[in-house]
Amino acid sequence: MLLKILLRGVKTVKACFSEAPDIADILLTDGVVTAVEKQVKPTDDMVVIDCNGLTAGSALVDLHVHLRDPGFTHKEDVLSGTAAAALGGYCAVAAMPNTNPVLDTPERLKAAIERYKQGWVQVLPIGAITLEQRGHTVTDMQGMAEAGAFAVSDDGRGIVADEVARQGMEKAKQAGLLTIVHCEEIQDPLGVICQGATAEKLGLHGIAVSSEANMVKRDTELALACGSRLHVAHVSARESIDHIRLAKQKAAQNGVQITAETCPHYFTFTHEDVPALGTNGKMKPPLMTQDDCKAVIEALREGILDVISTDHAPHSEEEKAVGLEKAPFGILGLQTAFAASYTKLVKEKGFTIDMLFEQMSLTPAKIAGMGDLRILCGKKANLMLFDEKEFVFEKSMIVSKSCNSPFVGKCLCGRVRYVFVDGQLKVAQGKLVENEE
Ligand SMILES: [Zn+2]
Repeated sequence: MLLKILLRGVKTVKACFSEAPDIADILLTDGVVTAVEKQVKPTDDMVVIDCNGLTAGSALVDLHVHLRDPGFTHKEDVLSGTAAAALGGYCAVAAMPNTNPVLDTPERLKAAIERYKQGWVQVLPIGAITLEQRGHTVTDMQGMAEAGAFAVSDDGRGIVADEVARQGMEKAKQAGLLTIVHCEEIQDPLGVICQGATAEKLGLHGIAVSSEANMVKRDTELALACGSRLHVAHVSARESIDHIRLAKQKAAQNGVQITAETCPHYFTFTHEDVPALGTNGKMKPPLMTQDDCKAVIEALREGILDVISTDHAPHSEEEKAVGLEKAPFGILGLQTAFAASYTKLVKEKGFTIDMLFEQMSLTPAKIAGMGDLRILCGKKANLMLFDEKEFVFEKSMIVSKSCNSPFVGKCLCGRVRYVFVDGQLKVAQGKLVENEE
């Protein structure tokens, strides 16, 4: 028998449908969208879910996640990381290759892809640009493309040598892969947080804005010269945005695709929050100034920054509990990205909800080669429903193996209630749905 699920009285995000009434009934038949109409008459064979007060949009896509699997599974693994993703409203996440071993050969990537299959959501594979991400020898990108990678990245650190960065982009282009760059020069290896008053007050080594901006400039220029598809990861600073704006203008003229992302922490916090956040205010690149934070928001509004990713980077409680200087860089993001973005950008800064779904779902899906992620009749449902109510994000809600989130204790709006991944119900009433088998 066909499984029919009727979502009744859903508020629709226009950008995520072709044509839909403001309030619609959505019928899913065996996971396929079969009706989006003002009213669908319920029948006995339907499971009816009352969605009064809920808004529906395409499920989210995250281009930047660290699943820590293999090698660091005390921090996170495929199952726990993708469970966090499902609860966060995602249907797909791209996994960075800085695992142990690094995913730098077709064989290693294939083994990872096998593990990814157990995930709650789809995991999009990324291979490394250089062997062991050491920045010296470019990997077998053709082989990794054939194994299933959609992108390559040495995320975690920037590639120092210009010539290696150039070779990487050339080879990625030949293999049809997207290059995702982590832009940071290591000017001061002891740098902890961004340069300025907070670093001075805390007696910490600072990281200069130029360490990101210089590499953004180099990598966008290389991409323009090579004609390779480039995606700039986790942009945090005004100066970097200025380089991206310029590069995009040039790219539009000669048909090169340059895109860029930021993360919720860069438009929510600044370096002034570090004393209160402690080691959950430490990540790469670091939290910047008020002015940079403002520039990130305006660049999202303008479309210079295309995508909101999480850079979900779990570290265990013990690892983070050693003080700012010694703690590893990185914070969680998957379970809070939507609510944090909705709260800051839509509620506070007047972004439309359509913009948010472009930045968190439709655009990243296109960049990852997933195609059109809108909710259309005849297609499997990749769909999420959220409510606008306020809630406090509690530590007890975290399903990651780590809990290094700067959003714990924060009041947010936009709680994810239901998620369908490729037609399957994965989250109901804000809880994971265990499969029968
Ligand atoms: Zn990174």
